[in-house]
Amino acid sequence: MKSLDHKHLAQLDHNHVWHPFTPQSRWTSQDPLIVDHAEGCWLVDTNGNRYLDAVSSLWVNVHGHRQPDIDQAIRDQLEKVAHSTMLGLSNVPATLLAAKLVEIAPAGLTRVFYSDNGSTAVEIALKMAFQYWQLTGHPNKTEFIALKDAYHGDTIGSVSLGGISLFHRIFHPLLFDVHRIANPYWYRCAQAPQPDACRDQCLGQLSELLDRRASHIAALVIEPLVQGAAGMIVQPEGFLHGVEHLCRKHDVLLICDEVATGFGRTGTLFASEQEHVHPDLMALAKGITGGYLPVAATLTSEAIYQAFAGTDPSKHTFFHGHTYTGNPLGCAAAIANIDVFQRDRVIDAVVDKAAHLASLLDQRIAPLAHCGQIRQKGLMVGIELVADTKTKQPFAPSQYTGYRVCQAARKHHVILRPLGDVIVLMPPLGIRTDELDHLVHTTEASIKEITQ
Ligand code: PMP
Repeated sequence: MKSLDHKHLAQLDHNHVWHPFTPQSRWTSQDPLIVDHAEGCWLVDTNGNRYLDAVSSLWVNVHGHRQPDIDQAIRDQLEKVAHSTMLGLSNVPATLLAAKLVEIAPAGLTRVFYSDNGSTAVEIALKMAFQYWQLTGHPNKTEFIALKDAYHGDTIGSVSLGGISLFHRIFHPLLFDVHRIANPYWYRCAQAPQPDACRDQCLGQLSELLDRRASHIAALVIEPLVQGAAGMIVQPEGFLHGVEHLCRKHDVLLICDEVATGFGRTGTLFASEQEHVHPDLMALAKGITGGYLPVAATLTSEAIYQAFAGTDPSKHTFFHGHTYTGNPLGCAAAIANIDVFQRDRVIDAVVDKAAHLASLLDQRIAPLAHCGQIRQKGLMVGIELVADTKTKQPFAPSQYTGYRVCQAARKHHVILRPLGDVIVLMPPLGIRTDELDHLVHTTEASIKEITQ
């Protein structure tokens, strides 16, 4: 057997692995950090170094790594069956999980369609919304609305919704057009740089679009409360509620993408709850299994489901289904994850930790010379670094400020990943208070090191 030492693995990685969202030339010029195992909120690499996982392994990990109940649930399921198909069959964990999701989701969502990642959960919502209107006698309702700077995944439908030029522009010829409305990014709003005024302006624009075009619009897609990949843009209070109100008024379906915000991240189980919003479709992924296995779900209202309940198979079937849909191991992990949420009162703890984090950020990060704005909802934080806090002038992209801050944090054994010059803090919800202190102190030191 070949030796599994770090150097050998690094060579294999550089020779064969193509990493996502990663400039490969930069990657292969550096010694890669290769994760070997994990303990709680810490990742341990092949050289034995420990790193605080402050991005929750890309916004998925919830209770920390190797949570004993989830570990055990997967082992128990492994004794039964690892995978069987949902096409023409069902399985025990997928059935039980669907009932649990309906129980905990915002009222009105009664049906669960499985897939295996956030992009497909959104893609499915788009296709369901489209087919729903075809089935209910509204063939003109074929268009979608999304927000400026939106990110909903990497498949062609979800990229069509996307509004992040750096990621999406190359694929433009492949995409369908969407109506794009302003997002309430009030820090950078030229006309209305205050939360309420910016919110009202954005809602006014949506209202005008719907007055003009609603008879052609199938659905509006939104990340509730926080646009994550856009740079942790926290929406002013009332924005989401206003969006729902306008959708209802104009008979447009509301699709909430809770892939990033779901499962406690914003301080409630689902972000939509905070504004008492009831989506017609809701996309879930990431935290659904506690960050263990690739499971996603698209939840729908009974009205949408019933439109597909007719008897003509060629018309009423939803022709979509991924091979690993409803995977029993993943669903068993998801059930255990939800049980831990309920048993350990995780949401209550998140509210306390978020308050602690807010005061730390206020003391340590806000006073820094290049801190433009701190945006926080629960344990979801973006720190926007700017060249000049008075004029809000950004750093030149060629300076890679955000990237270099995160590289500096890595030297201090904290894993961070930026969105441009927004430093993202997304620790597992299970992080301890002393670990939060360590995270903020390291972030402060790293920002200082690079910008002063
Ligand atoms: N929607 C949102 C809001 C996301 O943040 C992401 C991933 N970051 C996705 C969809 C896509 O999820 P996945 O990467 O699992 O396809």
